[in-house]
Amino acid sequence: MSVYSTTPRFLAGAVCPRCEAMDRIKVYSKDDKDYRECVECGFLDELHFPGNSRELPTRVNQAKTEIDEDVVKILPINTQEN
Ligand SMILES: [Zn+2]
Repeated sequence: MSVYSTTPRFLAGAVCPRCEAMDRIKVYSKDDKDYRECVECGFLDELHFPGNSRELPTRVNQAKTEIDEDVVKILPINTQEN
């Protein structure tokens, strides 16, 4: 089960863990998996939201918010799955 839409969206406030560019991380779902991708350096990472292994792109600005909260804010698309 994926969290994101198959349509890529930029994740507001997210910082790339590789090149540290802000607001350059787009997130999307593919084959029921969630990915984040940096359009600056090409960084690509699979996200795992269920469970406790949280690989967050927000480590640098962790004081702001966690990614789960960002997802809720920017993705009013959950109605698709219900
Ligand atoms: Zn990057």
